[in-house]
Amino acid sequence: MNVQTGIRWMELFNEKIQQEKDYLTQLDTPIGDSDHGNNMSRGMSHVIQAIESESPDSLEALLKLVTTTLLSKVGGASGPLYGSAFMGMLKTLQQDDSSWSKILQAGLESIQKRGKAEIGDKTMIDVWAPVVQAVEDNQLTSAVIDEAVEATKPLKAKKGRASYVGERSIGYIDPGAYSSALLFKAMLESEG
Ligand code: ADP
Ligand code: MG
Ligand code: MG
Repeated sequence: MNVQTGIRWMELFNEKIQQEKDYLTQLDTPIGDSDHGNNMSRGMSHVIQAIESESPDSLEALLKLVTTTLLSKVGGASGPLYGSAFMGMLKTLQQDDSSWSKILQAGLESIQKRGKAEIGDKTMIDVWAPVVQAVEDNQLTSAVIDEAVEATKPLKAKKGRASYVGERSIGYIDPGAYSSALLFKAMLESEG
C-alpha cells in the first residue's frame, strides 16, 4: 500500500458508504439507534474533504489524517473505534519491516483494546478478525468478506447498543460489520 493506493482506498470506501448509507441506517434500526449510516457518511465526507485540502504525500500522513478526522468528526461508538483502528495501523506502519497484514492486525487490536469486544460478540470485530487472517494467508476475496458479514446474523450481541436488546439482536446483520465489509472491499478494489 502506498499513498496513492491509500487515497484511492479512502475514496472508494467513501463512495460505498454514501451509496449504502440508507442500508447502514436500516441495519442499525432493529438492533440500534438508526444512526450508523449518518455517522459513517458524515465521517467519510470529512475524510475526503481533509484529503483534498491537505494532500497527504505519504501513507503515514494519510493514516494520520484519517485517524484525527474519524476521531473528531464521527459520533457514536463507530467513530472512536474506526479512529482507533487507523491509529493502530499508523503506529505499526511507523515501525520497520511492517507488512500490510501486520498493519491491519494492529488496527484490529486497537479496536479490541478500545471496545473490549471478542470474536463472536456481534461487532465489527467479526469482520476484521477473519479479514486480517485472510490477508495474512493471502486469501482475501470479496466472498470471504461477505461470509463474515452473514455470520454475524445468528449471533447475540454482547457489546455496544445492540447488546441492550439481548436475544432480540439474533437474526440481524451487525451494522458495523457491514461498514467494515465496505472498508475491506474498497481495499481490495484499490489494490486491483
Ligand atoms: P452507536 O452504537 O453509538 O450508535 P454506530 O451506530 O455508529 O454507533 O455503530 C454501531 C456499531 O459499532 C456496531 O454495529 C458495532 O459493529 C460497533 N461496535 C459497538 N460497540 C463496539 C465494541 N465495543 N467493539 C467493537 N465494535 C463495536
Ligand atoms: Mg447507532
Ligand atoms: Mg448512536
